[in-house]
Amino acid sequence: MQAQATTKPFAQWPVGDSASCACPHCGHVDTYQIKNVRDWGLDSRDGECGVCFGEYMVVARNGVVSPEKLPDDTRTYLIRHYYDIGDQGVTVKAPLGFDARRAAIYMQLLAEEWFGVEKMVTNLGIAAALVSLYGCKHAARNARGETIDMHADREAMCARAAVLMADESLRREDLRTFLAPHVDGWVGKPP
Ligand SMILES: [Zn+2]
Repeated sequence: MQAQATTKPFAQWPVGDSASCACPHCGHVDTYQIKNVRDWGLDSRDGECGVCFGEYMVVARNGVVSPEKLPDDTRTYLIRHYYDIGDQGVTVKAPLGFDARRAAIYMQLLAEEWFGVEKMVTNLGIAAALVSLYGCKHAARNARGETIDMHADREAMCARAAVLMADESLRREDLRTFLAPHVDGWVGKPP
């Protein structure tokens, strides 16, 4: 009865049996099989990132494939560190549109500046700050969540540290005071 109820053309997917789509969470490009969805006349299919395991929709319009976040796309993060002994992971859920990975590495880099280059914020400290200062919530362990590796992600983000440190949206008044008791790994002389 409305104009939008016109039939969707089947040819909105690109040609070929597969199409590439970039993860809306981390940018990693995965290749998806599109033959079936095209044959079935669907204009989207599920996507799951091969790197961060973030879920999203792979949507086809006018021969172009693009990613779309799920409507209630809160992201669950497992915070861990490559050098953890045993399971010390802590899980949080981030509010819509918030990238907890960037905030976590931002805090770690600031802690190094404030407390010394050998200093490391514990996984629990990062999670506690994300909950207290950035609107995240504590969450039960979720196997489908993304992993923040405080070692590997810190290394990976180092090249973009200047951009990260200049991000005003991550600045918090009480961050230094908040992080201080959660700092670990001192190997030099005491402060
Ligand atoms: Zn991803």
